[in-house]
Amino acid sequence: MKKYFARDALLPSGWARDALIVVDSGEIVAVDAGSAPEGAERLHGPVLPGMANLHSHAFQRAMAGLTDVRAASHDDFWSWRELMYLFMERLTPDHAEAIAGQLYIEMLKHGYTAVAEFHYVHHPAEMLGRHLDAARESGIAITLLPSLYRWSGFGGQPLKDRQKRFASDTATVLELLGGLKRHVSADIRTGVAPHSLRAVDPQSLKDLVALIDERAPIHIHAAEQTREVEECALALGKRPVEWLLENCAIDGRWCLAHATHVTAGEVIGLAASGAVVGLCPSTEASLGDGIFPLLAYRGASGRYGIGGDSHVSRDPAEELRLLEYVQRLVGRRRNLNISSTSQAVGTTLWLEAAAGGAQALGREMGALAIHKRADFVVLDAAHPDLAGKAGDAIANALVFSGASDLVRDVMVAGRWVVRERHHALEEKAARRYAKTVAQLLA
Ligand SMILES: [Zn+2]
Repeated sequence: MKKYFARDALLPSGWARDALIVVDSGEIVAVDAGSAPEGAERLHGPVLPGMANLHSHAFQRAMAGLTDVRAASHDDFWSWRELMYLFMERLTPDHAEAIAGQLYIEMLKHGYTAVAEFHYVHHPAEMLGRHLDAARESGIAITLLPSLYRWSGFGGQPLKDRQKRFASDTATVLELLGGLKRHVSADIRTGVAPHSLRAVDPQSLKDLVALIDERAPIHIHAAEQTREVEECALALGKRPVEWLLENCAIDGRWCLAHATHVTAGEVIGLAASGAVVGLCPSTEASLGDGIFPLLAYRGASGRYGIGGDSHVSRDPAEELRLLEYVQRLVGRRRNLNISSTSQAVGTTLWLEAAAGGAQALGREMGALAIHKRADFVVLDAAHPDLAGKAGDAIANALVFSGASDLVRDVMVAGRWVVRERHHALEEKAARRYAKTVAQLLA
């Protein structure tokens, strides 16, 4: 049993003063505001709950900044995807592990304490285990989601040559899950990721859902692109989110990544389903996907979390800032995402995204509360951007001050993995990553 004391702590009810947090076996067993610090380790600044990164394709980290050159007369998601396929063709298991190792450390240093790895580069089969190894080494908790990827498009179009490394059917996914079984622990969880309605046919989607553990998270890409929505309507007679809601008993186990292009009816249905929408603001902006109607969705009590996806950002604060800013640009108003808990956008977004992310990963985390995992993100009280600040002003400094170095210490399940902005393996991981990128670009 260990006690921690923070002058400022972000609890589910908002910011509290003089919080005493008791941790036992990696879990929070007591939280009391207005306490005395005696007998407790004093944290070096304000503490927030760890954030879940609910949508990751780790290997794409190494492409950050590489695709921002006009590559086609009409450059969009689909031309980006061709570049991604070219890059992926050269990727070995060693490369994948080196990239994930670097990425997971970067994420920890910014306050992500768990990740959902939406894994679709299946061949060779050891690719999945390499992500597990990278996560273990870095100390980040991982939810591994082997992907079902059967077709190249609606109507059962065969995979293109470049997609052959993704090839998987229900049996492949179950076999991968079986292989992971002995590793499942507090830090390692599993679920499934039917890739999308274009890569999975209705029957295999139903088969997969019927065959897995009834509590396992299910993640799927949905409605990221208007072309996908149009093709889905032609092939299945419904829009992707509409089809999923009508055919798949969507509930709290599900995470729909992006769900960018949705009608008002789909927004209501999705919110009522209890599913989590996996918003990936920096990637969606990078790819020119479009804008999710967040205000209407939140207005209907919809749940959401944030994902790094292609990892053009590894910083949850940056994702949340972009999430709010895009809505401001559209609405030509300020401070749009607030709640009954807080009128401050930074506080509101951190609390909601942390809770939604935890749900999507199937984990008891994302809140400084009893029975939740002890995942602490401790900011540096000595940082100039926190000078004189308390409560909501702290979360707003984190999300909106533009400082990207406010996080000082990070704890995952009761273990410190980042101390004084340093991860024990960061130099080694960075060297290996740099070598990998140089090889991939040679
Ligand atoms: Zn994705």
